[in-house]
Amino acid sequence: MARIVMKFGGTSVADLDRIHNVARHVKREVDAGHEVAVVVSAMSGKTNELVGWVHGMPKATGASSPFYDAREYDTIVASGEQVTSGLLAIALQSMGINARSWQGWQIPIKTDNAHGAARILDINGDEIIRRMGEGQVAVVAGFQGIGPDNRVATLGRGGSDTSAVAIAAAVKADRCDIYTDVDGVYTTDPRIEPKARRLKKIAFEEMLEMASLGAKVLQVRSVELAMVHKVRTFVRSSFEDPDAPGMGDLLNPPGTLICDEEEIVEQEVVTGIAYAKDEAQISLRRVADRPGVSAAIFGPLAEAHINVDMIVQNISEDGSKTDMTFTVPSGDVEKSLKVLEAAKEKVGFDVIQHETGLVKVSVIGIGMRSHAGVAASAFRALADKGINIKAITTSEIKISILIDGPYAELAVRTLHSVYGLDKK
Ligand code: ADP
Ligand code: ASP
Ligand code: MG
Repeated sequence: MARIVMKFGGTSVADLDRIHNVARHVKREVDAGHEVAVVVSAMSGKTNELVGWVHGMPKATGASSPFYDAREYDTIVASGEQVTSGLLAIALQSMGINARSWQGWQIPIKTDNAHGAARILDINGDEIIRRMGEGQVAVVAGFQGIGPDNRVATLGRGGSDTSAVAIAAAVKADRCDIYTDVDGVYTTDPRIEPKARRLKKIAFEEMLEMASLGAKVLQVRSVELAMVHKVRTFVRSSFEDPDAPGMGDLLNPPGTLICDEEEIVEQEVVTGIAYAKDEAQISLRRVADRPGVSAAIFGPLAEAHINVDMIVQNISEDGSKTDMTFTVPSGDVEKSLKVLEAAKEKVGFDVIQHETGLVKVSVIGIGMRSHAGVAASAFRALADKGINIKAITTSEIKISILIDGPYAELAVRTLHSVYGLDKK
């Protein structure tokens, strides 16, 4: 007997038929004698709709947030998961399974105060463990918890993955299964590259990079938690027949295991390609080249919670001036320009230029640590396709390249093939 947390994403619970299908997956594990807790997302499209409603509201006078009250945002967007948790509990009951729904505040899943992007601080798993021991299935609303202000808090988009891994850690589950609309983690987004291959295993560090660099199959924070708490996490499909052979395999269920790199026997140099759309580039021209200039630029941006990513600096020939170029999410451009204009006197630049609609394509693999020349082959391959590189950043296990938006798919496919990742 094992203890299993099963998470079902938005497409897996998109309508009543699919919710019944999910219930069959849960029933399979319950019938096998396992203790089960389930985490659900909202029906696909629901959270977007709710977010849209919030953005459609007028700004409150005197509100501290520039657009709306983030606590009310959370109250609204958390509601999608309330619905699916109740519906799944009913579906399970109709199959004779003892089940009940749990909202984040009922467990409670305690978070910090960062409404809209809250972090889980603590989960008391005792009551769920006790009830699992009595054969009850907990159906937990993902994406939500309760903040120190006693208000509903949400965990950022894609946050149900994080709810699931955090609950798995809290109830000391043997396994956390993330069920989604693909049957595992692929070498790149299979929607962009049909030749992408499913990975049997991927190391925590690589999955962390893949997720942070745009592969939204798992929320970044969920991978961090799985790594820290050593949660055995599988990504697998809810769209396969719940009772097909092997679906209930305890040690090797179909899908991709996220694990320590030591567990991966055949390590490739490059494991995967990720991409992130909607990047923007901002350049400050003719900035005085003196100590403190970077702090004067990036300090105020950080204070405004703007996430600066790639940074490139070019010194002019006489060494007295520099161009500073960096990327931010496209959605933060307006805010960034305002912050920089306000800091103009202190920084001392001539002009600001910006460009939106760029894409960051990244090559990821732990094998890069011990292999030279990986970056060079990416640059050559992109050049051969006439793709211009606007900025580059590298770390031990990844290379990120900024390019023009329209070239995104071509770049992903080109790199995928250059590193031998294409399905044979
Ligand atoms: P869910 O609603 O189940 O949480 P998501 O849409 O958040 O599902 O994540 C699944 C999607 O992630 C897939 O449909 C796929 O298009 C996308 N994806 C991006 N990169 C990858 C990758 N490397 N492997 C698998 N899926 C990926
Ligand atoms: N429903 C939330 C979202 O769409 C959380 C999730 O699906 O993981 O972001
Ligand atoms: Mg998701």
